[in-house]
Amino acid sequence: RLPVVAIVGRPNVGKSTLFNRLVGKRVALVDDRPGVTRDRREGIATLVGADFTVIDTAGFETDDPQTLPGRMRAQTEAAVAQADAALFMIDSRAGITPLDEEIARWLRAADTPVIVVANKAEGRAGEAGIIEAMALGFGDPVPLSAEHGEGVVELFEALRPFI
Ligand code: GDP
Ligand code: MG
Repeated sequence: RLPVVAIVGRPNVGKSTLFNRLVGKRVALVDDRPGVTRDRREGIATLVGADFTVIDTAGFETDDPQTLPGRMRAQTEAAVAQADAALFMIDSRAGITPLDEEIARWLRAADTPVIVVANKAEGRAGEAGIIEAMALGFGDPVPLSAEHGEGVVELFEALRPFI
């Protein structure tokens, strides 16, 4: 079994962008039916010669299992439970939002090690958000630009103890 890394965070922070960058075309599981695509995608990432499974997650708005968002959240929780490390992604430009704080509370109660990834950190617009992310209590955030590919080596360095 390869080590497993789950990417979690509120919508639009850039989780899928990072997933696509790490996995490229080697996506093991893509289902294009509406609503299913966003459930869970996994693939194999190779960073500096180390292979690991990456899970892209979506859905944290509600835990009502009667709803699609609730089932997506259950998928997210299952992904984190099986992961060797969780990448908790925030948007450095937006700063920490109430939903980020809710996710942080939930992650603190989980057993999985958490690395905070401060995405959209290209340029200077993200500096305040990176500092805010330190207050989440998971240690120093890793600044990243998933879109521009900046910070990926530093992300690997942060992941290395867990994979
Ligand atoms: P997800 O909902 O967390 O999976 O977010 P997506 O990966 O779908 O990205 C949401 C939006 O953020 C898209 O418009 C991306 O192009 C944009 N985005 C992702 N990564 C970056 C980044 O590093 N910098 C900037 N400026 N935008 C980004
Ligand atoms: Mg996504």
